[in-house]
Amino acid sequence: MNKNVNLNLEARAKTVGRPETSLALFGGNPIVSPGRIAPWPATKRKHLKALRTVVESGKYHRANHPIVSDLERRLTDWAGNWSVRAVGSGTAAIHVELDYFKDRGNRVVTAALNWPGAVGPISISGLEPVFIDVDLDLAGIDEGAAASCFEPDVAAVLITHLFGNNIFTPRLRAVGRTRGIAIIDDVCQSIGAIKNIVNGMYIDSDALALSGNGAKHLGAGELGFVVTKDPNLIQHVDHVSLTSSSRNGARIFSPNSQGYNYRPNVFSAAIARSRVKGLDKQLQKRRSNATLLWNMVEHLPGLVPLFDPNDHHQSMLNFPLRIDLERFGFPAGPAARDFVVKLLQAEGVPVWVWLTKPVFEYLPGIRKKWRAADFPKTIKLLDTMFYVSEIAPPNDAEVMKLYADAFHKVWEVLPRLVSNTRKLQAPLEF
Ligand SMILES: *Cc1c(COP(=O)(O)O)cnc(C)c1O
Repeated sequence: MNKNVNLNLEARAKTVGRPETSLALFGGNPIVSPGRIAPWPATKRKHLKALRTVVESGKYHRANHPIVSDLERRLTDWAGNWSVRAVGSGTAAIHVELDYFKDRGNRVVTAALNWPGAVGPISISGLEPVFIDVDLDLAGIDEGAAASCFEPDVAAVLITHLFGNNIFTPRLRAVGRTRGIAIIDDVCQSIGAIKNIVNGMYIDSDALALSGNGAKHLGAGELGFVVTKDPNLIQHVDHVSLTSSSRNGARIFSPNSQGYNYRPNVFSAAIARSRVKGLDKQLQKRRSNATLLWNMVEHLPGLVPLFDPNDHHQSMLNFPLRIDLERFGFPAGPAARDFVVKLLQAEGVPVWVWLTKPVFEYLPGIRKKWRAADFPKTIKLLDTMFYVSEIAPPNDAEVMKLYADAFHKVWEVLPRLVSNTRKLQAPLEF
């Protein structure tokens, strides 16, 4: 349906005068030339060197491979406070953590604006998700609404930190503590949240799940981490994962394993290990790039960041923005955002729309129990947000300037495009 709407807008834009022809979407030259941007995971020769260490180790797997253990140690040192256990993926980490706390109740409270992969393990663990609308200023769970759902049968609250934002929600955590509800943080996109960033303190969490997949900060292929202070949860990784007791090399089969085999990929672990040393620098660069870009586009009408780019505790996996539809007189719905994204993409800017539906609509097993209309803030974000990717190094200030130039070019004609299309007799059909 969106597609038709976009084509409609585009066709109209073309028929109502031609000052827009400088736009790349209508045949003009794009601002960012192909090949100018370094896409993440920003491949380097040193990654080959890291892979080589695995080959030379003579072993390509094992949960306790020295490369994996060393990576766990380095991440532990980098973050402080927690123990870290590598697993197969971020999703596996969430599953292990939910599985550990599942006896505390039947339900898990989480945000309707969410990554389906984060929510899937709730059902896998035999639990039932309870969805909460988001706080518009966080793009994260609304803490008041969530806390009011903390009934005695709630086992855990799953707090998802999207785009590199930090969802502190102190009130929610405090209420969870008094009710004995497990607090699990999905920080797959926010690696910086495992450091002491809450006024110098650590986030109050029972378990954090981290992803090392190729798109995330550790950009390592397929990898995840259980991060916790609880030594029994660290042990629980093996109960869920390892059928044989391969952590200590014995040839004994576990009598209690769930057999999910969530072993970390050693090749990915080697790449991740090579990135830990540069992690602070990477985060710094992502933040400064996002701040630079924002400073150059913040005066453009109707453009709103999802969270404050000047807050230097964010992990800025991507730089999320939102279009304020009312500002342009656009009606509700995703059409206007989709059109703007298309204009920017044509200029060569790596902007993307990610999620388009509340998370339950991606999950056939639970879809029928929930209605999108009950989550107005989630829908508002889903219809208006998009993000700029490729803000990581080696992309620098010059690349951010190109992105900003493209935003300016598009915004220069946007009001005219809108008013010209309005001049047509027929009403705009979004
Ligand atoms: C990437 C991601 C996951 C899952 O991580 P994988 O390693 O891909 O399984 C979970 N939650 C969020 C928010 C993510 O971005």
